[in-house]
Amino acid sequence: MDFAYVSGDPALDLAGTVVSRRDMPLDGLATPSDLERWVAGCDGLPARVTADPATFESALSLREAAYRLALDRVLGRPFGPGSLKIVNDMAAGPAPSVRLSDAGLRMSGDLAAVLSHIARSAVVLLADPDARLKECGRAVCTRIYLDRSRGARRTWCGMDECGNRVKAAAYRARRRASSAGRAAHGSGA
Ligand SMILES: [Zn+2]
Repeated sequence: MDFAYVSGDPALDLAGTVVSRRDMPLDGLATPSDLERWVAGCDGLPARVTADPATFESALSLREAAYRLALDRVLGRPFGPGSLKIVNDMAAGPAPSVRLSDAGLRMSGDLAAVLSHIARSAVVLLADPDARLKECGRAVCTRIYLDRSRGARRTWCGMDECGNRVKAAAYRARRRASSAGRAAHGSGA
């Protein structure tokens, strides 16, 4: 699976490594090396970390807890205590170090520190009453994203990931309907 970094927050992007959560979950993080690849591709995170099996398991548990808390926010219900504990415990861990240069921010640290950073990001995001969290409008996707658009008009997690696919499917359906209409008309004549 190609990773999508479209959710506007690393914790939501991590949660989005599983898509189609309600129907047929597709997990992009099958092995520790998938996680290393995900971290390397995520803006602002270190370019290289090593994932051992234990830290990989922690990452998956953070991912699921962050997803459930984000879903709690989307549905306007209280946070689940089990997920809160996982995210809060991980947010209390040592943070990665950051360095500023003309090239921007450079973060360094091991995977445990990166997970701690992601957990903090989830805490800050989910504590913000003004953060507009939405589930993608393509029902099968189930990604949750932060809508920063003016007027909160965004409907999809990403155009490439979902928006264009929905539009293309609608176009094909219209074309099928109109050619079926023509066929029905033709056979009756
Ligand atoms: Zn989507």
